[in-house]
Amino acid sequence: MELKDEKLVKKLDIELNKNFEEALNDANFKKLCGSLKRPKKELMKITSKLENTCKECLNCKNCKGLFECSNSLEGHISYPKVIENKIVFTYIPCKFELEVINKNTNIKTLTKVTMKDIDTKDKKQLKVIKWMDDFYENFSVSKNMKGLYLHGSFGSGKTYLLTALLNELKEAKKINTKVIYFADTLRDLKDDFYNFSYKMQELMNTDILLFDDIGAEKVTDWSRDEVLAPILQYRMDNYKTTFFTSNLTIDELEAHLSISSNGVDKVKSRRIIERIKQLTYDLELLSENRRK
Ligand code: ADP
Ligand code: MG
Repeated sequence: MELKDEKLVKKLDIELNKNFEEALNDANFKKLCGSLKRPKKELMKITSKLENTCKECLNCKNCKGLFECSNSLEGHISYPKVIENKIVFTYIPCKFELEVINKNTNIKTLTKVTMKDIDTKDKKQLKVIKWMDDFYENFSVSKNMKGLYLHGSFGSGKTYLLTALLNELKEAKKINTKVIYFADTLRDLKDDFYNFSYKMQELMNTDILLFDDIGAEKVTDWSRDEVLAPILQYRMDNYKTTFFTSNLTIDELEAHLSISSNGVDKVKSRRIIERIKQLTYDLELLSENRRK
């Protein structure tokens, strides 16, 4: 009996070893194992878990937002660390998840920023800042001025810059401005159905509206066709200045909006993109990530 068990253990060991050696062909897997500094005997037993970490890291590499996350826990990577000489897996939040977590503190500081807080040390921002200066000087509600579709890299200052502009207009020129994080607004509209039409009216009528981080939300037929489309249509028909920030280019946003939980609808998405193009100038801001 004992002999049989021993044989079985040996066979299992050979199998584990073989899988582990095969996995080592992947450079990322090898690097991950190296970083843990634990004996092979131990690593061998968790080959598939370590492979899963590598897969999740790779998923994150080209990811555009939580809506396309395919990791086991949305917005997280299952990552190994060594605690008291043992390997344990914990969930580490990704940068998009951290953004959601930090959103509230971020919003508090952002409600106070105005144009004088903007530093100009980042030369890549100058084009946007110059555009904003002109806009600020010229803006009046009756001029029907277009806003920006400001897209580009994460943490480059998109939200910061446009929020500063809107706050300044609110303070100095008494313009009615509103910044909304679209994913939150959707949640709010859904939870408060009683006030739905009142809240929609507000979004339609505010003098300047900024959709912060459009494209980070999960698309449903409702969010696209009953919320976003009518707001944009109204604002377009009434020449209301509208801004957007996004991590997605306008083409990527079109693809994002075409896929809802009910399938693919390229026509509806196209119509929204046409409205955004009517409402805005397209500017890109690619810069260092300034998030701490
Ligand atoms: P994005 O919206 O592009 O992802 P943010 O606007 O949130 O990036 O910018 C990240 C952080 O960088 C801001 O919270 C702010 O602290 C800082 N920041 C960016 N641009 C400036 C600037 N011109 N002056 C001062 N702080 C800035
Ligand atoms: Mg932002």
